[in-house]
Amino acid sequence: STRIVLASRPSGTPTAANFRLEQEPVRDLAEGEVLLEILYLSLDPYMRGRMDDAKSYAKPVDIGGVMEGGTVARIARSRNTAFNPGDIVLSHSGWQSHAISDGTALRKLDPEAAPITTALGILGMTGFTAYAGLRNIGKPKAGETLVVAAASGAVGSAVGQMAKIFGARVVGIAGGPEKCDYIRKKLGFDAAIDHHSSDFPAQLADACPKGIDVYFENVGGHVWSAVFPLLNDFARVPVCGLIAHYNEGPSASSGQDQLPTAMRAILRKSLTIRGFIQREFTDQRPDFYREAGTWISDGRLKYKEDIVDGLENAPEAFLGLLEGRNFGKLIVRVAS
Ligand code: NDP
Repeated sequence: STRIVLASRPSGTPTAANFRLEQEPVRDLAEGEVLLEILYLSLDPYMRGRMDDAKSYAKPVDIGGVMEGGTVARIARSRNTAFNPGDIVLSHSGWQSHAISDGTALRKLDPEAAPITTALGILGMTGFTAYAGLRNIGKPKAGETLVVAAASGAVGSAVGQMAKIFGARVVGIAGGPEKCDYIRKKLGFDAAIDHHSSDFPAQLADACPKGIDVYFENVGGHVWSAVFPLLNDFARVPVCGLIAHYNEGPSASSGQDQLPTAMRAILRKSLTIRGFIQREFTDQRPDFYREAGTWISDGRLKYKEDIVDGLENAPEAFLGLLEGRNFGKLIVRVAS
């Protein structure tokens, strides 16, 4: 089998040299085990955090360890009565072509119900992140203005469309004209702003004449700086991700101490700023599958997948994700 391991820890922006491709024979199965042939691997921004040896909500990948990741796999061989060869499952097998499992962490997928790649995106972790952040923290109401960053991406595109379903006016922030066109014309966002434009803060203010009631934070950095002054009284900010900062060390700060200014605004405007990791809301998964399934079949929730061929291309694709080179949910086709 083929696998990609963490060769070294990056300092700052990772490079291809931080990864190494290895071959290893597949061992025999013990009673109760199954052999998984990985078909698709999800690439996600959180993987950058796992490359650092810093305290976080999850353990780092060890040097020499297989890079972590969500996968869709086919049962190739089985010594477990719950699984038959040919079954398709969701697993967390990481960046490799084959894996052995005792079956406990596998979820069977029905390939008739939805394309199996959706279990990594719109009907999986990223779709659920959008749902959980909106339902528990953002709580957009009809007529309110919601702004979402990384708006053409896996989480952001779902956030904007769900907020439209809840009746909000939705403004998306994305990188470049192609992504902006997509969220406005294909996904029905009310406005789309390119954060690479030189007058991006002014454009955002123009697109939000009544201020911002919900800001779904995926990015941080210059995007957050443009949004923050536009927040209305009682605005809610689900802090989902800060991708603009993932290549900085844990103690990095951008010059002048902005915390007193932020704290004054939080008090004066009665803001709710609340970080979350989607796992915290796992008990809402059944509601999510039911509701998102209906929205997809109604045509109200669309999705775009950016599929890259070949496990050996995973490092390059992952580096691109951190720079906005993906367009939609980034997935690697490991085998077909
Ligand atoms: P995306 O599919 O949105 O891909 C990442 C996008 O981020 C890029 O395409 C790019 O879009 C944008 N981006 C990257 N760097 C920058 C930058 N420096 N400034 C501005 N934009 C940037 O990824 P996901 O939808 O999977 O993830 C979105 C966010 O949600 C991430 O921060 C991720 O960590 C977080 N997340 C959090 C979870 C949780 O439980 N809290 C779970 C899942 C994801 P563009 O070209 O438009 O700038």
